[in-house]
Order: sequence, then C-alpha cells, then structure tokens
Amino acid sequence: MDRIKMTTPIVEMDGDEMTRILWQMIKDNLLLPYIDLKTEYYDLGLAFRDQTDDQVTVDSANAAKKYKVAVKCATITPNSDRVKEYNLKEMWKSPNATIRAFLDGTVFRAPIVVKGIEPCVKNWKKPITIARHAYGDVYKGTEMKIPGAGKVELVYTAEDGTETRETVHSFQGPGIIQGMHNLSSSIESFAKSCFNYALDTKQDLWFATKDTISKKYDHTFKDIFQNIFDADFSNQFKDAGISYFYTLIDDAVARVMKADGGFIWACKNYDGDVMSDMVSSAFGSLAMMTSVLVSPDGDYEYEAAHGTVQRHYYQHLKGQETSTNSIATIFAWSGAIRKRGELDGNQELADFADRLEQAARDTIEAGEMTKDLALITTIPNPTVLNSENFIKAIAKRL
Ligand code: NAP
Ligand code: MG
Repeated sequence: MDRIKMTTPIVEMDGDEMTRILWQMIKDNLLLPYIDLKTEYYDLGLAFRDQTDDQVTVDSANAAKKYKVAVKCATITPNSDRVKEYNLKEMWKSPNATIRAFLDGTVFRAPIVVKGIEPCVKNWKKPITIARHAYGDVYKGTEMKIPGAGKVELVYTAEDGTETRETVHSFQGPGIIQGMHNLSSSIESFAKSCFNYALDTKQDLWFATKDTISKKYDHTFKDIFQNIFDADFSNQFKDAGISYFYTLIDDAVARVMKADGGFIWACKNYDGDVMSDMVSSAFGSLAMMTSVLVSPDGDYEYEAAHGTVQRHYYQHLKGQETSTNSIATIFAWSGAIRKRGELDGNQELADFADRLEQAARDTIEAGEMTKDLALITTIPNPTVLNSENFIKAIAKRL
C-alpha cells in the first residue's frame, strides 16, 4: 500500500511515563503503516529536559512557531518528589506553561463524544469547548491581611510620576484585600485566538463576564472582544454562518446547562478553571478530553488534557498489565494531522485524520474499550482491553 505523503513536518513533542509508552504504540500501529510521517522530533521527556537545562522545551516551542502545527505528549511537571526521582538539576517549569507563554496562546478543551459514554447533563448532545484565558486576574494577584482599622487605596504611578488614587475601603476593623491585573495585549490575544478557533471549527462563540458589577475591569474584557469582533471578524462569522454571543456569566452558566452543546465558551481565567472541571467531569472522563493551544497568529499545539498517568506507568514497570485509555492522545495526533493537511492543502492527509477518529469511536461504540470507560459506559457487557490491544482494535477497524 502507498503511504500518504506529507510535505511539511509536524512538530512532535514526546513526553513521559505511560503516555510515552502509548505514544510509541500509536505511531507504530495507527500512523506509520498509513502515513509517510514527517515530524521534527523533540524529546520533552523529563530526563532530556534536565540534560539540556530545559533548552529542548524552548526549541520545541520555536519549532511550533515555525511549522505552525505541533502534537505534544503529556509531560511531568516536576515537584520535589520528581526532583529526587529523576535526580534533577532544578525543578524545571511546566513545559505547557513555557510553550503557552512563548506562543501567547489560548487553550481550548473539548470532550470526545461517543455513544455509550453519556454526559450527566442529558440534553448535551454535542461537545462544549472551553477556552480559558490563561493569564492574570487572581492567578497573579497580590493579597494582604488587614490587621485593623485603616485605609486601603489603589495607587497608579505613571512613568512621569503623576499619581492616580482610588480608595478601596476604609477599614474599621480587620479584613482582607486583594489586588489583581490583566493586560490589554493579553486580552486581545485571547479574543483573537477565540474568534479564529470559532471560524476554524465552525462553532458559535460565547463569552461572559460580570461587567454589570465590574464596570472597568470586566467591562474592558467585554469591550476588547466586541471591538475586535466588529473590526476583524463580524463578516467572516456571517459568511461561516456562526455567531458571537456575549452575556453575563451567571446567565451563561444557566444557558449552558440547557443547551445541547456544539459551541465554544470563552472564559476568564478563574471561570475557565472552574467551568472546565465541571464540563469535563459532566462529559464523563478526563481520558476523553482533548486540548489544543491556539496562538493569535494561528499556530496549533494539540495534546491530551490528562497527565502522564503515573499510577499505570508504575504498574507497567512492574510488568503488570495496564488498561490505559489512549483516545485523547490519538485525537491529539489526528487533530495535528488534520490541521497539517488543511494548511498544506493535503486532502488525503486531512481525510486520514477523520478515518482515524471514526475508527477510534467505532471501537468504543462496538463495546471494546479500556477499563476507565467500561466502568461508566451504558453499553451492556463491554469488552475490557489492555492498553496495547485497545490500540490494535482501533487499527483493525482503520
Ligand atoms: P493523570 O495523569 O491525569 O492521571 C490521574 C488519574 O486519572 C490516573 O491515575 C487514572 O486513574 C486517571 N486517568 C487519567 N488519564 C487516563 C487515561 N488516559 N486512561 C485511564 N485513566 C486515566 O494525573 P496524575 O497521575 O496526577 O499526574 C501524573 C503526571 O502528569 C504529573 O507529573 C503531572 O505533572 C503530569 N501532568 C501533565 C499534564 C500535561 O502534560 N498536559 C497535565 C496534567 C498532569 P486511576 O488511577 O483511577 O486509573
Ligand atoms: Mg481547575
């Protein structure tokens, strides 16, 4: 059989533990037999990050900017246990944080919907994609405990020394205070990524804040989104038959519960943190959640939303059988392959991504799945497969 040719490489970011094992199995069974796979390989496994003083992460982010499409395996974010386990020179930063900061991107998380894994919210028929603004607000806040009576002010000192003051509160007794910020440039990047991704996936975009209460802070988010939409996107949205919808955050939450899905919900940092956990758990499983980082310039980095599945890896090292779900990692590859096909005008490649996803869905819908899904499926008497046989069951259909 002639394998599908590629013209431009995909940036391949390998990772750690169980997902690194799945990574190789996916390539061997689902990709290499069908595609003359061109990748530029970066080993983001913790040992090599340490060996290169994390330069490999920076290099991979640069490559993602150059080639516009990357696929990433889950990686360990070191903590003190990992520093000991891997005898690290330093507690390196999370690769995802490094890559996200470099690409100035927004993360879109979407569940993979299959028959037999039913969302808790019964009217959700199509995926709900959450876009979280991953900069600022309470995550870069400054806080103080106020011990007793006294005045708290906001003071802005301009470069020329002029001061603008605003009283926050005149305390009569003890209390607490928090200062936080955001940047117009970051909100603009967020808005552009969201509008581009909505066009890209032909889905409506929702955005919500509390602008009625927060008349300067949240209102600025609302205004920046609206201005960018009016200036650069409203015609494109009309042509694509999709809409941009702004509402208050509490109204959005109520509408989401009653909707049938199929839209992107853009969230401020805190809302996205909270709502993405709600949406992903209601859709069934973290192992069925994909994630794509989209830069305002249209660079894409695809990955699974879950981690390296450490517990399963230790079982694997002990020679025990594992039943780790590879769906989200497979969809990371198919997402990158489809995008590469679209950008290069390579229809055969884009079509292959569709077939790979269909084969994966068909496998689960036929009752063949990993243990995590078997525990929650509505399909009677599912067949539980181990990590490798699940991938082979998909390969058989492909
Ligand atoms: P995890 O890898 O997401 O796994 C947590 C638990 O969720 C697993 O023990 C397993 O439950 C279940 N699970 C997750 N993915 C699964 C899959 N594909 N198939 C079956 N079950 C799955 O989180 P973690 O074990 O807490 O973290 C491990 C490492 O991942 C950490 O070092 C962390 O830094 C890293 N991490 C990386 C990323 C990333 O690269 N994007 C994201 C998150 C975490 P059971 O044990 O009940 O089977
Ligand atoms: Mg959270």
